[in-house]
Amino acid sequence: SAEHPVLEVRQIEVLYGQAILAVQEVSLTVGEGQIVALLGANGAGKSTTLKAISALVGAERGQVTAGQILYQGRDITHAAPDQLVREGLVQVLEGRHCFSHLTVEENLLTGGFVHRPSRAALRADLERIYHYFPRLQERRRTAAGYTSGGEQQMVAIGRALMARPRLVLLDEPSMGLAPKVVDEIFEIVGRLNAEQGVSFLVAEQNANVALRHAHHACVLENGRLAAEGSAQALAARDDIHELYLGAA
Ligand code: ATP
Repeated sequence: SAEHPVLEVRQIEVLYGQAILAVQEVSLTVGEGQIVALLGANGAGKSTTLKAISALVGAERGQVTAGQILYQGRDITHAAPDQLVREGLVQVLEGRHCFSHLTVEENLLTGGFVHRPSRAALRADLERIYHYFPRLQERRRTAAGYTSGGEQQMVAIGRALMARPRLVLLDEPSMGLAPKVVDEIFEIVGRLNAEQGVSFLVAEQNANVALRHAHHACVLENGRLAAEGSAQALAARDDIHELYLGAA
């Protein structure tokens, strides 16, 4: 509802196995219609935070051992991942994970069945995705394994959009891509946000590009929140880049 942020993470702690404390006392908020960047170096805990939210840490022997996660005002700390997808909370995993033997269009369709749509509705969802990613329309009959890294990232985002999400958790979309392609992807994310009202929580090591497109940003260091603020304010702080973000 309107008075709740889309997502509220309160003081969570995430433990892998019995002893690896990957995230401690992390709090963050994604307001309705916001793009929030989750920044930090390799191993800072970005992926773990996203997977804690989407309930996928469980698949990696991790668990949320303290704190609370609220989605649209409801406690989802111990919810099931498939239920969250049906409710519009969808993660795009790091590394894209396309089905390489399926065509681009078949990959997109795999994301479309959560709401048991009619054929016409599926078609309409596909057309909406092709509107934002014309490149995917051109490549729709190509096996995903034969498309470029940028196109595979677009497939992964497009597949998530087929579930008609309200909040997309996007893990390291820039990974391994040329700067021009990264900009293209972030621009499309910005348009989806502005035109479709989809909120995004984007984990990125590439702070510069993420801060250019996000409204708000949080910085993780060694599993803890090291800084946060408006993207504009953080981008203006030189110390942030030097202390937490390396050369990115
Ligand atoms: P990257 O971008 O490289 O994934 P990250 O900021 O997303 O970095 P995480 O992947 O969340 O960082 O890792 C945070 C910490 O948790 C690291 O110390 C990592 O070694 C540890 N970790 C991550 N996944 C597991 C796992 N499945 N089992 C045990 N430890 C893990």
